[in-house]
Amino acid sequence: MRLEGIHHITAITGDAPRNVEFYAGTLGLRLVKKTVNQDDPTVYHLFYADERGSAGADLTFFEYPGAAPGRAGEGMVHRVVWRVASEAALDFWAERLASEGTATDRAPGSLRFSDPEGLDLELVVEQTDDPPLTAAAPDVPVAMALRGFAGVRAYSSRPEASRELLSSLAFEPGAERSWEVRGERRGSFHVYDEPPAERGRPGAGTVHHVAFASLLEEHEAWRSRALEGGAQPTPVIDRFYFRSIYFREPSGVLFEIATIGPGFATDEPEEHLGERLSLPPAYESLRARIEPRLTPLPDPRARRRAAAAAGAGAPS
Ligand code: ZN
Repeated sequence: MRLEGIHHITAITGDAPRNVEFYAGTLGLRLVKKTVNQDDPTVYHLFYADERGSAGADLTFFEYPGAAPGRAGEGMVHRVVWRVASEAALDFWAERLASEGTATDRAPGSLRFSDPEGLDLELVVEQTDDPPLTAAAPDVPVAMALRGFAGVRAYSSRPEASRELLSSLAFEPGAERSWEVRGERRGSFHVYDEPPAERGRPGAGTVHHVAFASLLEEHEAWRSRALEGGAQPTPVIDRFYFRSIYFREPSGVLFEIATIGPGFATDEPEEHLGERLSLPPAYESLRARIEPRLTPLPDPRARRRAAAAAGAGAPS
């Protein structure tokens, strides 16, 4: 029994419109689900992914409007790393990010930058044969597109403390402080870096948790494995698009194990993912009251598609 790499990563935004502009506009991901926080339906839970909303490419944000900036520290994921196909793709992103006002740090095989709220991101040239998970942005050639997560980097001053639990979750130890979690179809890395001196502070631009992918039929068994490894997992929670358990691992990182499926097409057709507000069944009867209270969001994909079409049709 193996986990299929990262399922999704969830972070915090204090500025949902700017968040949509960056991830669905600048980075060319698809906004595959626009829903509300299950505990507070006055704020969004936004999901960006590849075109199909696949596990392995899904970055999600809880919206806390106006949230103070956070800071990654001990026990927190501090960097999200995506795969791209080539050095040429890194050059493409370095140029595109610069033209849209984002500073980058280019090195062989790597491009580092931060989102508008300070969340650290990195693109790396992929080292695997995992099927690419790409979105169809109108202004990003598919050869340049982000191809799903390579992994996450977290801070821990005592990564050895996590060894027993990660081993019971079938993570494979790699080089010092690094682990690989790989199943039949996909894998990703999980690395611990030495933490900064300053304490972490949750807030805008920080990661809330990282979820690893389980086959539907193995989910309960993974809960047992987590218990055996010394964790205290929650009961299984139905998130409608997947089922989840949560627990904190000994280095302090909040882990989730989420099922691959039922998926984002359970409540709207795949060709229209994320276009309208999706509500959990318990809130559907309140739609008329909930929808007007939410922050209006831009649609950068539609705007860029129109701009690309206008550009292609313009006389040169
Ligand atoms: Zn989650």
